[in-house]
Amino acid sequence: MRTVEDRRHRAVEDAVRQGIVGPQQPVAGFLDVDAIRDAARTLREAFRAPRVLHTFAVKAAPLVPVLRLLADEGLGCEVASPGELALARAAGTSPARTVLDSPAKTGAELREALALGIAVNADSREELARLDALVQSAPTSSTLGLRVNPQVGGGSIGALSTATATSKFGIALRDEGARAWLLRACAERPWLTRLHAHVGSQGCPPELMAEGVRAVYELAEEVNAAAGRQQIATLDIGGGLPVNFSSDEVTPTFHDYARLLAGTVHGLFDGRYGLVTEFGRSLLAKSGMVLARVEYTKSAGGRRIAVTHAGAQLAVRTVFAPESWPLRVAAYDAQGRPRTGPAVAQDVAGPCCFAGDLVAVDRPLPPLEAGDHVALLDTGAYYFAHHYAYNSLPRPGVYGYTAAEGETTRFVTVRSPQTLAELVAEGGAAHAADLTALR
Ligand SMILES: *Cc1c(COP(=O)(O)O)cnc(C)c1O
Repeated sequence: MRTVEDRRHRAVEDAVRQGIVGPQQPVAGFLDVDAIRDAARTLREAFRAPRVLHTFAVKAAPLVPVLRLLADEGLGCEVASPGELALARAAGTSPARTVLDSPAKTGAELREALALGIAVNADSREELARLDALVQSAPTSSTLGLRVNPQVGGGSIGALSTATATSKFGIALRDEGARAWLLRACAERPWLTRLHAHVGSQGCPPELMAEGVRAVYELAEEVNAAAGRQQIATLDIGGGLPVNFSSDEVTPTFHDYARLLAGTVHGLFDGRYGLVTEFGRSLLAKSGMVLARVEYTKSAGGRRIAVTHAGAQLAVRTVFAPESWPLRVAAYDAQGRPRTGPAVAQDVAGPCCFAGDLVAVDRPLPPLEAGDHVALLDTGAYYFAHHYAYNSLPRPGVYGYTAAEGETTRFVTVRSPQTLAELVAEGGAAHAADLTALR
């Protein structure tokens, strides 16, 4: 069995040899299909409770073939917008395996979800009132739940911490009178059968996430005791397991997290509750990379700079918040073979026209030359599928690959590169004369 690194080296060399990345297409995203299947299998094995629905947070990789691959591994979809729902449906994910979360669902979205039988977690008291009206107007097979903000605090990345005291998500559990209100809301609505919490994403320690799950579990126990029956039948424990961006090691693992949950929330896995999970980054990040050509190299003020085709257009967070989102960069030569040699500090710059468009600053790497390649590692989630249209750079192609021992890598297209014609059409070409006509 090849190591992750061996598979990556092989894939880079074959991608360059096959011309998938080259002078014409100087950047692309890649997904290691075997690694994705491994991650999904590990997740299934880690949560060995009787009734578990693992959904994939579509926002982490909104690509139809990826959702189909994950469905093939038994995963459903967690969606948070009409677009994400459309992607999940295009992938063939059934409504029964789809969960709708979002703090801003419109009346039309809610109506559609209930008509389709998609599970909905109400995010606010006002949204619950909308559900009241819908439930009265037509029968639904949707599982309906409430998102609770357990207010257990934030992690190291504020923007991704959803369980702070003042977070915009869910119904704040620890605010004055909130617990009593929630108990009453459930008592008055026998159709509320699920509680949901998602404490946060990258930067949130798993211990904090487990505290949040404990808070919803305890609330569910209280609701059920008051009802004298198992009214809350499922707990949606969210996603958010952090990813190690500093080496090929997967840490924490899904097994680590399941063990932590079992130790923190006694009874969670005893079969009384069905469970729903919503992992995104931890399922995909380590299976993906961006591969880009080095177009030029230069030096300025004593700093070596490699100007590549991978920048803010596909690594927005890394470029704008480098302390929170450092990425590993691997150096390859013009043939796609690992570059070796003594490391020299270099900036790895992108193609965008602003000075901060750097994916690595002062990074020790074997000296890069024009025509070489750089790979941005662990970018399978929230990178190449999250295009930022700066400088009208086209969305790059995305390719999935697999390689048996001793064979060349086989690539399939996950998403075609955006063409200039498509880019111009998105830039309003159909309305070219409309502004000048406004006289
Ligand atoms: C973003 C999000 C997730 C997935 O988070 P990851 O960090 O990608 O695992 C799951 N549930 C909800 C409600 C989210 O907003």
